Amino acid sequence: MLENVRIILIGTSHPGNVGSAARAMKTMGLTKLVLVAPECEIDGKSIALSAGASDVLKNHQLCSTLDEALADCGLVIGASARPRTLDWPMLDPREMGLKAVVEGSKHPVALVFGRENSGLTNDELQKCHFHVFIPANPDYSSLNLAMAVQTLSYEIRMAFLAATAYPEQLEEYPLAQEIEGLFNHLEQTLTDTNFIVPAHPGLVMNKLRRFFNRARPEVKELRMWRGILSSVQKAVGSAGKNVNKSADSDKQ
Ligand code: SAH
Repeated sequence: MLENVRIILIGTSHPGNVGSAARAMKTMGLTKLVLVAPECEIDGKSIALSAGASDVLKNHQLCSTLDEALADCGLVIGASARPRTLDWPMLDPREMGLKAVVEGSKHPVALVFGRENSGLTNDELQKCHFHVFIPANPDYSSLNLAMAVQTLSYEIRMAFLAATAYPEQLEEYPLAQEIEGLFNHLEQTLTDTNFIVPAHPGLVMNKLRRFFNRARPEVKELRMWRGILSSVQKAVGSAGKNVNKSADSDKQ
């Protein structure tokens, strides 16, 4: 989806800003930079400020009109340094990130930025489905162009990570019955070693339940614990004779 999000800079006049914008994009995983009628050349300053992102600069697309840059986009969002430009649907940066990522899986999405000195024209703003405003200091709300690119690219990245990374990171946790199997095995082993005296069990098992619950063992860790308990039982010579039935039956 990130390949489907393009950053469009209109009429940029400072070469350094183009380089810094490229760097801002690449740090957030965005690579498609489109320059519409730039007022400057890409020069040594641009390359220096792009740091390791000169590939983004080099691969930029040059368009003479905004229409050309937007032609194949299904969603167009304009970044405006003013809280209300025209009476137009607004998104906050977080909503913008989510929308860009969701729609980016279907069609190209454009995020359009204006000129350093005058922003976007009304005509340009009217070509956008939504406007996004970074809720900055009301008395001083205009960010440097590349910093606005950074802030909005970050929101896109956060939405992208939320949408994609979570399921991959999810650990494999044991089922409740497997956890119960561990507690039975633990109780039996501690009884075998005489740590728990059946006539006066006290709160040991409650405390151990709380401890394991807090640690939330993963499947592999639970298996290791079952192995540890079996080895203790073997060492005290209880394996196979005193072992509690339920502990034995659900060994994996
Ligand atoms: N002086 C211009 C602002 C130029 S800043 C004006 O008054 O409109 C250059 C570009 O950075 C803006 O066109 C906009 O695309 C983006 N930008 C700067 N501050 C922003 C903010 N608070 N929210 C959204 N975009 C912003």
